[in-house]
Amino acid sequence: MKLYEFQGKELFARCGIPVPKRRLVRSFEDLETLDAPLVLKSQVLSGGRGKAGGVVVCDDNASLVQEGKRLIGSSLKGERVLALLAEEKVDILQEYYLSFVIDGELKKPLIIASATGGMEIEKVAEEEPEKILKLSFDPLAGPSDYHFRRIADFLSLRNELKDLRKVLRAMYALFNQYDASLIEINPLVKTSAGLIALDSKINLDDDAEFRQKEIFQEFQEQQNVIQQNNAKAKDEGTITYVPLDGNIGMISDGAGTGMLSLDLIRDFGGEAADFCEMGGLTSPDVMYQAMETVFNKATKELKSLLVILIGGFNRMDEMAEGIIRYKNDHGISVPLFVRLCGTMETEGKKMMIDSGLPVFDDLEEAVEKAVMAAEGNSHVHSY
Ligand code: GDP
Ligand code: MN
Repeated sequence: MKLYEFQGKELFARCGIPVPKRRLVRSFEDLETLDAPLVLKSQVLSGGRGKAGGVVVCDDNASLVQEGKRLIGSSLKGERVLALLAEEKVDILQEYYLSFVIDGELKKPLIIASATGGMEIEKVAEEEPEKILKLSFDPLAGPSDYHFRRIADFLSLRNELKDLRKVLRAMYALFNQYDASLIEINPLVKTSAGLIALDSKINLDDDAEFRQKEIFQEFQEQQNVIQQNNAKAKDEGTITYVPLDGNIGMISDGAGTGMLSLDLIRDFGGEAADFCEMGGLTSPDVMYQAMETVFNKATKELKSLLVILIGGFNRMDEMAEGIIRYKNDHGISVPLFVRLCGTMETEGKKMMIDSGLPVFDDLEEAVEKAVMAAEGNSHVHSY
């Protein structure tokens, strides 16, 4: 679960990380009750709001009302802005970047720090990696004081070591206590009054929801108020989609089947374009959405699509229904290889064949043909 800035800052405040005084505003009437100077910040989940015009410093009440009215209801990076955070304006001496993340390759938690914080951290990471410090630490022991001193030196914040240590300790406490996968402050700013977190980005690990029920519920209720189409977002949540570098689209009904399919694609010399699985027990709608996801999100042009379904509790007639409905709505412009078996297999196959779509009985044959098609060794189909 991604938290909005205002939610992250609430957590920061609770654990002692200094944040600006702030108020959430959701209506034009609320704007009239504010007093400049202050900063209006659009509450959306994507980053880069500053560059996209979603963060505005307002020096007088007239511009505050005008800018506020412009922002509320506007669309920012594909999200509708339904709330603004109105914050006390802070005089910035310097901007820093700090985060706690899990490094998937090292399989360890990592602290990332940079003195070139602000809006362009991805650019810095690419062009001047020496300006970014990455320190991994033992997940059981937590970070120790030596890490904090090293970071203070790297950021030339030796004189602010006490403040910095407090911020880092609190970030770690949040990271640990709430099963976060990311706690980011960008920018953390130096002011005449000390260090202040001017932004907040927090991701909680969805797989930990079962032991973080209270916090998930609290934040979800807040998000429901300022989000539209929430039901739809939930429904799509059953699909796991991970983009990969190849050109063979892959859909499976469960994670195990998906891993098996990826291995087989490799064995036959192909490269998958994605890992897409429908979360076990599923429906025609989810099958349809999985097709949509794989075609819409592919980063490279797909050369074939492999759908591997093993019906334990899934009904193959329902899976076929989803595939056929997608074909009727959008067409399928690449060679398709569907292998289905198990519950209601005969019915599912008949529906596919009646709709002019190919089905395979043999798993390896379907994978091999999908790989061959991606290599251009079969004539191009479309359905
Ligand atoms: P993001 O672009 O979505 O990451 O939004 P941020 O919250 O990081 O804000 C973007 C930029 O706006 C920051 O890097 C600051 O430079 C600037 N900014 C935000 N709040 C203030 C403030 O209170 N005072 C000043 N002077 N600048 C601010
Ligand atoms: Mn930021």
